[in-house]
Amino acid sequence: MTAIPDKRGRFGPFGGRYVPETLIPALDELTAVYQKARRDPKFRHELDYYLREYVGRPTPLYYAERLTKKLGGATIYLKREDLCHTGAHKINNTMGQVLLARRMKKPRVIAETGAGQHGVAVATVAAMFGLQCEVYMGTEDMERQALNVFRMRLLGTTVTGVNAGSRTLKDAISEAMRDWTTNVRTTHYILGSVLGAHPYPMMVRDFQAVIGREARKQIVRAHGKLPDYLVACVGGGSNAIGLFTAFLKDRRVKMVGVEAGGLGLSSGKHAARFASGSVGVLQGTMTYLLQDGDGQIQLTHSVSAGLDYAAVGPEHALYQERGRIAYTSVTDDEAIAAFDLLAQTEGIMPALESAHAVAHVVKFAPTLTRSQAVLVNLSGRGDKDVHQIARMKGVTI
Ligand SMILES: *Cc1c(COP(=O)(O)O)cnc(C)c1O
Repeated sequence: MTAIPDKRGRFGPFGGRYVPETLIPALDELTAVYQKARRDPKFRHELDYYLREYVGRPTPLYYAERLTKKLGGATIYLKREDLCHTGAHKINNTMGQVLLARRMKKPRVIAETGAGQHGVAVATVAAMFGLQCEVYMGTEDMERQALNVFRMRLLGTTVTGVNAGSRTLKDAISEAMRDWTTNVRTTHYILGSVLGAHPYPMMVRDFQAVIGREARKQIVRAHGKLPDYLVACVGGGSNAIGLFTAFLKDRRVKMVGVEAGGLGLSSGKHAARFASGSVGVLQGTMTYLLQDGDGQIQLTHSVSAGLDYAAVGPEHALYQERGRIAYTSVTDDEAIAAFDLLAQTEGIMPALESAHAVAHVVKFAPTLTRSQAVLVNLSGRGDKDVHQIARMKGVTI
């Protein structure tokens, strides 16, 4: 485990707890329960068991031979989080948190969701353990992601539309926090990324760190040494920090986080928080945000709903300032092109989020040599995005 954040949940100047007074006891309780659980061999054993038998871990590290040859530079490996049950890394975190809810004897879990991926991962573990589940979702997102809304309902979850603000993720988080404040005695709030107030950014990171722990062993076995580069897409930042954490002390391993460049940085329609954001507070944490001069949160855009959020996890903000992790962005069109390339060279359709990471690799892998290894986190699979891609290509299906 890394030594950060400090006791107050600070990652250097970032992170912390910017919440109403009424939520502090709930956050304190959760922190205490989590700190105890992470040191309890019984809890770790239980989590390992469900990750193995239910989620399908360890996920493979796949040598992408045809992609490597096609790009003609570095050797490329894919960490296959797309093969997790429900199709993405998100269940690593929801599994950890649902086990905590059980430890706290809370019969009900709630969550927010944007694209619906986190909502589905929460609905899944709630069904599996027989907990009551309610997921908040902006009504705009509910229209765009009707299939995931239906999936959650099939799993027995109540999906509640939030008809406020921009009617998207940000508004769903606010509503979930309100519910939690009211029902904290019976309810655990399963936040979906390394965002929000302490202990969430730390706890979600720890649950996702299994990705990097596995990948570190796997790449040494496959390539004979540590990788030269790690690449992952960054929405809130959980799949990226999940991969990066196990390598942070290896100074020679370079790390790149890829944000959503949308229609291009100059268009203003993107979610590149580091390229054009500034420091502020959103939904419990201090970090880099897209905001105007008055601190109003800006509307973001990305072809991939999972990267379409105005804030980035506070731990990323710290590593960006320290220069430990580099951040870049790729556009919607570059991500779609990378989706096509991976589908046609490797027979793998990546989630549009993950396609952003692949798109960056397409740009820089040719400048490297075959003895250099690039490890890309394939955070999820692309089945959920097929309709969106058809629409972008002007195809009716
Ligand atoms: C939600 C999601 C993301 C973005 O979230 P992070 O917390 O940045 O990982 C990336 N990829 C997939 C497949 C997702 O579902």
